[in-house]
Amino acid sequence: MPFSISGPLAHAPLTRFAPAPTGYLHLGHAANAVWVWGIARALGGRVLLRIEDHDRSRCRPAYESALLDDLDWLGLEPDLAPTTDYRAGPCKLRQSERDALYTHALDTLRAAGLVYACDCSRKTLAKEVGDLRDVETPYNGKCRERGLPSAPGRGMRVRLSPGSETFDDLRLGTQEQVPFEQCGDLLIQDRLGHWTYQFAVTVDDWLEGVTLIVRGEDLLSSTGRQLQLARLLGRGAPPRFLHHPLIRNPGGGKLSKANRDTGLSELRAGGERPEEVLGAAAHATGLLTEPRALGADELGALFRVA
Ligand code: GLU
Repeated sequence: MPFSISGPLAHAPLTRFAPAPTGYLHLGHAANAVWVWGIARALGGRVLLRIEDHDRSRCRPAYESALLDDLDWLGLEPDLAPTTDYRAGPCKLRQSERDALYTHALDTLRAAGLVYACDCSRKTLAKEVGDLRDVETPYNGKCRERGLPSAPGRGMRVRLSPGSETFDDLRLGTQEQVPFEQCGDLLIQDRLGHWTYQFAVTVDDWLEGVTLIVRGEDLLSSTGRQLQLARLLGRGAPPRFLHHPLIRNPGGGKLSKANRDTGLSELRAGGERPEEVLGAAAHATGLLTEPRALGADELGALFRVA
């Protein structure tokens, strides 16, 4: 039975596949691609390929070429990619090429008095509020009223409001989140001057005109804060969201780029065919009751618009 999606949805939505070139793609990315391309094809929409290389210290050109090659092997062609023309100008879909846009977005927030400089390091915060790596602990607001001038070595945070954000996930139904309680004032630029994932992705989804975000459930808790940030930046109509199931490793954890047995290059080297990989990814995320070979041109048929 196809997965049923019900509206209201933008006509011919623009969605995106947004890998970070910090490692090789694995079966979890293939699953995300199945949902992204499948939904786009079922709704007569388009897929944009964004290279999320905001974390310059971990990204490598070799990972970007490998992921382009893997997509090609899977038979998944984006409608817009970093090499195609987008609107009038050259298509800057690599985050590393979009610095001016992020700076402009930061200036907009600054002009509205919504940002402040922050010199708290991860280490000091870990001492004061606990280790932020494992469980999310909200920022304690230490620099909120200090009025520090922005300077090299200081990060930037945006003031979030205490209210809740409600959205209708196309798979999980109504969701309510209170970003200020989850994360406190959001870091948008770190102390080294790098744009954070939350900021870059929100600016990109808005300025690239993405209307439907299809991604794994691991990012569900980011959605409320991205909605609030988009509104503060001036985005009118918010995008719609669908968070799909994740593929777990046998221990129950999330697949990661370090899980060699599910890496696409390992599967390819082991003689798997692209149809088998797509079928396995669709099956593992509940789109097929039995694993079977699935061609890229069949993905749209996995979804039905109700
Ligand atoms: N770049 C993120 C990842 O590879 C995806 C971000 C998103 O879909 O918002 O997990």
